[in-house]
Amino acid sequence: MKHSRTFDVIIIGGGHAGTEAALASARAGAATLLLTHNIETIGQMSCNPAIGGIGKGHLVREIDALGGVMAHAADAAGIQFRTLNSSKGPAVRATRAQCDRNLYRAYVRQTVEGQANLAVFQASVDEILVSGDRVTGCRTAAGVIFEAPAVVLTAGTFLAGRIHVGEESTPGGRAGDAPAGALADNLRDMDFPVGRLKTGTPPRIDGKTVDFTRLSEQPGDDPRPVFSFDGSRDDHPPQVSCWITHTSERTHEIIRAALHRSPMYSGTIEGVGPRYCPSIEDKVVRFAERTSHQIFVEPEGLRTRELYPNGISTSLPFDVQVELVHSIAGFEQAFITRPGYAIEYDFFDPRGLHPHLETRRVRGLFFAGQINGTTGYEEAAAQGLVAGVNAARQVRGDTPWVPRRDQAYIGVMIDDLVTLGTLEPYRMFTSRAEYRLQLREDNADARLTPVGREMGLVGDPRWEAFSRRQERLAAERERLRAIWVSPANELGSDVAERLGIPVSKEVRALDLLKRPEVAYGGLMAVPGIGPGVDDERVALQLEIEVRYAGYLDRQEAEIHRRRINEAVEIPDDFDFSSVRGLSAEVSEKLAAVRPANVGQAARIPGLTPAAISLLLVHLKRHA
Ligand code: FAD
Repeated sequence: MKHSRTFDVIIIGGGHAGTEAALASARAGAATLLLTHNIETIGQMSCNPAIGGIGKGHLVREIDALGGVMAHAADAAGIQFRTLNSSKGPAVRATRAQCDRNLYRAYVRQTVEGQANLAVFQASVDEILVSGDRVTGCRTAAGVIFEAPAVVLTAGTFLAGRIHVGEESTPGGRAGDAPAGALADNLRDMDFPVGRLKTGTPPRIDGKTVDFTRLSEQPGDDPRPVFSFDGSRDDHPPQVSCWITHTSERTHEIIRAALHRSPMYSGTIEGVGPRYCPSIEDKVVRFAERTSHQIFVEPEGLRTRELYPNGISTSLPFDVQVELVHSIAGFEQAFITRPGYAIEYDFFDPRGLHPHLETRRVRGLFFAGQINGTTGYEEAAAQGLVAGVNAARQVRGDTPWVPRRDQAYIGVMIDDLVTLGTLEPYRMFTSRAEYRLQLREDNADARLTPVGREMGLVGDPRWEAFSRRQERLAAERERLRAIWVSPANELGSDVAERLGIPVSKEVRALDLLKRPEVAYGGLMAVPGIGPGVDDERVALQLEIEVRYAGYLDRQEAEIHRRRINEAVEIPDDFDFSSVRGLSAEVSEKLAAVRPANVGQAARIPGLTPAAISLLLVHLKRHA
């Protein structure tokens, strides 16, 4: 089949990275083509049907603030919503939505198909076409050639994917999908630094064979959180509960007795698995003293009875899976609808990427998602958005956008990946961010929507809604600043009586929010101060910004100091061995990462403050 078409940007892969990349590229003005194995699986959740959680929820809100689809899809598909860490500080509070797998996929596909500037074609890509050191397009398995000056690869777990269930091992991209073997060979031939990682998934259970009386019910939160800044509870489908059960001592005995048949322990799997999402056999070995592990039993959707038992991911042989499932409370008679499995796949050392996610080896070729060593839909989607918008910007001749560590979790993730690389599947945690208090879920729009607008990613309705919210926030801040509460006026006695706090000296109403016992809602109940704004997001943002003003200011000063180093750029072809005084070991470390600026250089393990000073002096002298 001979045919060729030209686009500005080609995205390979219709998973979470690929769909965000395609939408961002098209919205940024590039004629974009999304090439994927199967149009039916656009937006497919390969593993558990849930979006968000600690660290991941932050990424979703950032993607949303930048005009991405993930939060809207989670609102359209979310059948149980919770705010995790709700009793903890605002920096670590995170939204999580259990989703209907089919509704999620349908929403993403509809958004992709409805996007101007974006074409979709179903094909398996076998080869990336390169001329000299530049990408020129790609070739499909059927021989169709698509040309473009920028290509974003988001092949997920498909590159040389191999599925393991006990002693059985077969090629596969995920259950039911073929792997991308030819493309994996092509990339190995291109000399990309390839490694192997692995991940796994639990067996699925038929809900009608479960004894729910032995499980404890876990309803969603009330009031229900909403994921998108533009979303509302009206977007949500009907809500259902999740359930909790536990493994038993018998489960652990069954696993221990079968370990020699596990591909992870028999040496068949070489790839390293996700430390924070271990298989049940891993948990039983690593936490040998524990007699039980919790399992969240999550519905797969509204129109299916299939359940996802979150916590028993396994690659043990199928007969062992049956036995171990039956040893779990409520699952005594459970019927497995799909076996659990592990999958091993190729990934590329992310230190081979520029911070804007273009490969150093081939100009115009960008990598995003699981192939960069991450795990998780949210991590993939966030990288996809950055790679997609930067591919479009490169084609237009614009400078790339690199989110900073103090600006976004997306910035933290990308900086970690390109600076430190990864030896195991990387997932986001709030603890990875040094400026957590700045990077909250509630203010992701203030941090990123203006940037998204500038890059063409944020349309008029979202921009207007954002601007309105910011205006209301500023107006409410000013209004409360102007109200004085004093022991001598009526407000003072009302505040004392209604909020139970003595007012001993004159204070602004705004400053009352600094007290941990005063919530915005309570303050607004005081006549003469309320009723205030009726937008709970504005109220929350104001409350947090006032309460944590001291910490935020201190962090801001630190961020400012750090930006000075970030502003000193290091040319891409810089010869680190030319810096007088740097040891050979340090200059090798620098050459391996090729940091874009001195700030990034300072984060390379083993780079001492003295080495950074030498580098700074050299760069300034030769500027
Ligand atoms: P994917 O979602 O894998 O999408 C890749 C896309 O590229 C697919 O549409 C595919 O068809 C397409 N594609 C690939 N090659 C080609 C080609 N040559 N031509 C055309 N199209 C191509 N994450 C967690 O956070 N926790 C977990 O516990 C977890 N467990 C998992 C278990 C399993 C078994 C699997 C498969 C995944 C698991 N994940 C887990 C990972 C999660 O699914 C991924 O992180 C996420 O889907 C990555 O998104 P992506 O866009 O990078 O890739």
